[in-house]
Amino acid sequence: MQTRAAAFAREQVIPAVDGWEREARYPRAAVAGSGLTGLFCPAGAGGAGLSYPEGMAVFEELGRGDAALAFSLSMHNAVAAAVAGHAGLAERWARPLAAGEALGGFSLTEPHAGSDATAITTIAEPDGDGWRVSGRKAWVSLAGEADLFLVVCKTSEEPGHRDIAIVAVERSAPGVSFPVIYRKACADFLPIGEMELDEVPATLLAPAGQGMRAALAAIDVARCDIAAIAAGLHAEALDVAVAYTAERTAFGRPLLELQAIQFALADVATELEASRLLYRRAAERLGTPEGPVAVAHAKRFCPDAALRGAVACSEALGAYGWLLDHPLARMIALAKMLQVVDGTAEIQRLVIGRWLASR
Ligand SMILES: Cc1cc2nc3c(=O)[nH]c(=O)nc-3n(C[C@H](O)[C@H](O)[C@H](O)COP(=O)(O)OP(=O)(O)OC[C@H]3O[C@@H](n4cnc5c(N)ncnc54)[C@H](O)[C@@H]3O)c2cc1C
Repeated sequence: MQTRAAAFAREQVIPAVDGWEREARYPRAAVAGSGLTGLFCPAGAGGAGLSYPEGMAVFEELGRGDAALAFSLSMHNAVAAAVAGHAGLAERWARPLAAGEALGGFSLTEPHAGSDATAITTIAEPDGDGWRVSGRKAWVSLAGEADLFLVVCKTSEEPGHRDIAIVAVERSAPGVSFPVIYRKACADFLPIGEMELDEVPATLLAPAGQGMRAALAAIDVARCDIAAIAAGLHAEALDVAVAYTAERTAFGRPLLELQAIQFALADVATELEASRLLYRRAAERLGTPEGPVAVAHAKRFCPDAALRGAVACSEALGAYGWLLDHPLARMIALAKMLQVVDGTAEIQRLVIGRWLASR
């Protein structure tokens, strides 16, 4: 699967991403054909049944291709795995999601509630055998594109997280609309925006009392994916800079023979090694009591290191680092994105700080 992901990134993502950007079109066919849409689903549901460390190796390769596409696959794979574990939803959705014929989205953030997830107000209420959900979600990735969204919501007016549940909502259900699609610094091919839910019929995935824990467990996996994607972006930036500076000459010799350039790239390489160790260690601890803090270390460090690395690599190319012919300017924007998605560096510091206090 790692080899497949590397080939997908090299052959189908890197040469095509500029075209997707120009057309602002999500590459559904390429994603469906990637064979990377059921990574954590069991084989019985049409998935690859990977362990977390195996899956993270796939995400590092995808990060080399394009971090925004990799992020969308991270979210989709989390949804596919959750659905495969739910008897009611699995029958209809598990196989199409694992095959990439259907896409999954995860919707927690609201216009007024980002880091503070317990402040959400979207509410689900029982309706006969099912549920109806109403509210407004923000920063919905694959807005209008995903076929099934897992929506984190409240089930009462009580403050706090005890009544938080997760429901599944079909994009085509009556009452679902996407009134706002954001303009972004890059990754126009990935639609992100707001989702309006007006008494939408929904299926309960995790009931009140379990919703917050289930969401946090899914977010821990997603944070580890993001750390691995950041390492992939970081590795690709370094490869671009090494290849360029080995060819480009100044003052009679290749830039790469100048000690100032070597030292700058040496630091990028050390931070890449550190990132890989951190995300791989976190992947091994997912699902154990040490998982959340190991993931927080990786999610805190890897995107920051990738951003520092992409900036240093861009500088090694001089003016050419700024051209779109070399992907470094785009990588800088994507590394900024990775710092925020699935929880900012400050939120990771909160997790690490609480762990220190609990010791
Ligand atoms: C590209 C992209 C895709 C996304 N896709 C999705 C998606 O599909 N589904 C979804 O649900 N969400 C998605 N998000 C939303 C993302 O999870 C949130 O943006 C993120 O959790 C931060 O929330 P916020 O932007 O509202 O920032 P805020 O919570 O408003 O925070 C603003 C700043 O304050 C800091 N801050 C907040 N609280 C504290 C604190 N207690 N201590 C110290 N500092 C603090 C933050 O670190 C940040 O720097 C996406 C975001 C991006 C950028």
